[in-house]
Amino acid sequence: MKSDNPMRSIEDEDVCRVCGYTDDCLFFEDTWPTHIICSCCGWESGTQALDVSATREYRGYWTGQGAEWFSRGARPKDWDLLKQLRNIPEDWR
Ligand SMILES: [Zn+2]
Repeated sequence: MKSDNPMRSIEDEDVCRVCGYTDDCLFFEDTWPTHIICSCCGWESGTQALDVSATREYRGYWTGQGAEWFSRGARPKDWDLLKQLRNIPEDWR
């Protein structure tokens, strides 16, 4: 679903809770997990890391492994991990 959708709800989340990546896909639609897999960290909404501590743990593991992109082809040339991590919604940092 694209962000130009006028029906976008405030409960929708288009930013990855783990890594802050966003490509306009919804990870949560109206609080319901969409089960999409983050192209960046490989986190799948709804199956893993549903609470803050598990989310942090996943993030720690992923960055500890070198923050490899799940979809290598999707990695922008000028990708900046630290910049992206700042996108993480406050509740999930
Ligand atoms: Zn992610």
